[in-house]
Formats: sequence, structure tokens, C-alpha cells
Amino acid sequence: MTATAGDEMVCIELVELVTDYFEGALSEHDRLRFEQHIAACGPCTRYVEQLRMTVELSGRLDEGDLDPAMRAVLLDAFRGWRTPSN
Ligand SMILES: [Zn+2]
Repeated sequence: MTATAGDEMVCIELVELVTDYFEGALSEHDRLRFEQHIAACGPCTRYVEQLRMTVELSGRLDEGDLDPAMRAVLLDAFRGWRTPSN
């Protein structure tokens, strides 16, 4: 579990919360942070869109539906996407 000092969601946090997002299990606060993040982050937008298609096709989203390879590639891309602020 990653706690961020600020209010801004980071990519890794988004990836970890994405199943809760599709299940409607996020708090209002986290849902807003999630949506603010994907509004500003291209890789996460594509990730969420891909999962949304999975949900629409299967009617659900299980952890098992997440492609580990894709997730790894994304997380790798995220590392290069932002330079650490500290
Ligand atoms: Zn992101």
C-alpha cells in the first residue's frame, strides 16, 4: 500500500485501484483522484480503456483478467513517464 503525501494519484496507485474503480468500490475521494489522474495521463487512459473493454465483453473484471505482462510493460513505461519529484 502506497500512501502519498499529496492528493495526486500516481500511476502505480491507479493500477492497484483499477479493479475497485470498475467495481464501484472506491470512495468518492479516491474515485475523483482516479479520474483526475486518467484525465492527465496517457498511458493510464489507455490502460483503463483496455480494461473497460474487458469489462464490457465479460461483464466483470477479475484480477485474473489483468494481463500481468501488459501490467509489467505499463509499469515500466510509467517509470520513464515521470521523473521522480524528489
Ligand atoms: Zn498514470
